[in-house]
Amino acid sequence: MTDTTPGFDTLQIHAGARPDPATGARQTPIYQSTAYVFRDADHAAALFNLQEVGYIYSRLTNPTVAALQERMATLEGGAGAVCCASGHGAQIMALFPLMGPGLNIVSSNRLYGGTVTQFSQTIKRFGWSAKFVDTDDLDAVEAAIDDNTRALFCETIANPGGYITDLDALAAIADRHGIPLIVDNTTATPYLCRPIEHGATLVVHSLTKYLTGNGTVTGGCIIDSGKFNWSNGKFPSMSEPEPAYHGLKFHETFGPLAFTFHAIAIGLRDLGMTLNPQAAHYTLMGIETLSLRMERHCANAVKVAEWLEKDPRVAYVTYAGLPSSPYYPRMARICPKGASSLFTFSLKAGYEACVKLIDSVELLSHVANLGDTRSLIIHSASTTHRQLTEAQQIAAGAAPDVVRVSIGLENPEDIIADLDQAMTKAGA
Ligand SMILES: *Cc1c(COP(=O)(O)O)cnc(C)c1O
Repeated sequence: MTDTTPGFDTLQIHAGARPDPATGARQTPIYQSTAYVFRDADHAAALFNLQEVGYIYSRLTNPTVAALQERMATLEGGAGAVCCASGHGAQIMALFPLMGPGLNIVSSNRLYGGTVTQFSQTIKRFGWSAKFVDTDDLDAVEAAIDDNTRALFCETIANPGGYITDLDALAAIADRHGIPLIVDNTTATPYLCRPIEHGATLVVHSLTKYLTGNGTVTGGCIIDSGKFNWSNGKFPSMSEPEPAYHGLKFHETFGPLAFTFHAIAIGLRDLGMTLNPQAAHYTLMGIETLSLRMERHCANAVKVAEWLEKDPRVAYVTYAGLPSSPYYPRMARICPKGASSLFTFSLKAGYEACVKLIDSVELLSHVANLGDTRSLIIHSASTTHRQLTEAQQIAAGAAPDVVRVSIGLENPEDIIADLDQAMTKAGA
């Protein structure tokens, strides 16, 4: 970084956005248009051949979505980015160019519940598979990688327990095996951690959470570091001639933008998981205040977690921002500004008390979401992690006697008071 690179607070407002060339509109307009007029037949042909970059049809590209893509690429320090309709869509879109029947990924076993289901069940229908490992056991990670492995996958701050992953160590392993490290950075956001600086190849996001920030839209994004060598023999979709584009080779032609172009020209074109411009607009507005919100989310989470940890009714709290957490030292290296606001705690009174606690909260909302301005609470084992076996639930940090909270931006005393009265009602 040179002295002239603008800071994060500046970039979260300005990156990707410029006054509208037609009207001077200062806020990024919602370009609610399906198609774009070609200058002439040659212009149309050049766009369809990927010889010129421009707008054809909004399943592929849209100016509002493009502003968000540029902002995400800038904030994550990547070469390019592609948005799509949801975080789960981003995961499929990230794997799609890398995978094929018989190929596998090696993934952390500490994941968002829906991701465990997507990786353990749904991707089998494409002939892909996933091997789950404890990413704190680097020998196990190394041992799980075989000749058919095409990616290593983890979350920066893993849902639901808030565990912090050693991205640098995983990147070194991925490098040795010539495979990309894909990092789900949803819970950290680029304000708390920029995984590309720790060696990640691709970063995926659910924009639905902290990035939009107020529980209004679903969206996803993939950011490419632009640094991976796709021509190492393992990734023919990226390095070999593409029949649908007259034998064009994506890596040779687009270099550091190969993944981004492939994700738009093949991924969005054929999978169709497109983000709509209205949703992109909400997310652009959310990101304008990302740093301010994340600072407050983290500060509130520390206060609530400290209070819970001292309460005799609580068995344990998993927040990595507590000095007592085994992940606290790792926070200094991976996300020094804070450990986000997602964590779990366990009640000594067990499962029944956890369920009653959820039914007794008044300020906190019982919803299956996170990263909202509002504080949220859920019993993961009976909801988001319900499809998992009990062993998978425990491995994922969603044992039956824990509740997950996503601490919002209310006054922390009010959040604590609500948890206090709900624990009393629950007979904890
Ligand atoms: C929510 C979430 C997802 C899935 O995102 P959607 O936008 O709901 O599809 C993936 N990973 C993590 C860590 C999440 O929190």
